[in-house]
Amino acid sequence: MMRVRIDDIGSSTKWYNQHGKKLFCWKGIPYFYFPFSNVGFFKRMPLFRKWGVYDELTQSEWGKILCIFKKHSIIPIIAITATWVDKDNNLIPFPEKFPGEASILKQAFLSGDIMIANHGLTHCVVGKHLPKFWKSNRKYHREFWGWLPQNLHEEHIKESQKILENYFEKPISIFVPPGNIWSKKTYKVLKKTNITKVIANRYMIDSNEKMEGISFFNDKEDWNFHDRELKLYGESWLNKLISLYGL
Ligand SMILES: [Zn+2]
Repeated sequence: MMRVRIDDIGSSTKWYNQHGKKLFCWKGIPYFYFPFSNVGFFKRMPLFRKWGVYDELTQSEWGKILCIFKKHSIIPIIAITATWVDKDNNLIPFPEKFPGEASILKQAFLSGDIMIANHGLTHCVVGKHLPKFWKSNRKYHREFWGWLPQNLHEEHIKESQKILENYFEKPISIFVPPGNIWSKKTYKVLKKTNITKVIANRYMIDSNEKMEGISFFNDKEDWNFHDRELKLYGESWLNKLISLYGL
């Protein structure tokens, strides 16, 4: 059966990753180009925005979503970012920031209805994550770039595992690198944790070395989306896609 995965749960990238759409196409043919879509407020306007701003899913929204998955016997992978990074660079643990959401996901995880994956500690390069006036900040909404120091990879992987495993009271064995970016520095730390699977659309950015004790799964054949679609398009979108994929 097709693997189903939802990313960005608990991540402040949904607020601060702001970039706009410049080119508009219809059936593959460009019909409108707007060069200023990354300037000022344009990137937050529904017409131009490509990502943020949208809100976190609530406990009751999750209640309905989990029912739909259960009805179709789908066990989705829910990829959680362990802390919310605020505008002053504070890191707030997921269960503290979103207690209602965390508790419904915990129940579902412990009863085997979902799988939980680690989607980083911050999802971003902290301190570079706020929107820029003139341009997109998308690059900094990836956490595990190879040019970041080894100790940052170390702290972020270990701390995120600690927060998630302490709260969910179960080992977390899947790692989904934010924005599909991870490096040999990340792998070096993953080896020391309970992670046994990395799921992404690409291998490490700076190495082809074979991993020991961890398997890589390319997600190109999977159905991957974000909480963004659920928040913006709701249950009808989810039901439509489930029937489209024949799940
Ligand atoms: Zn993500």
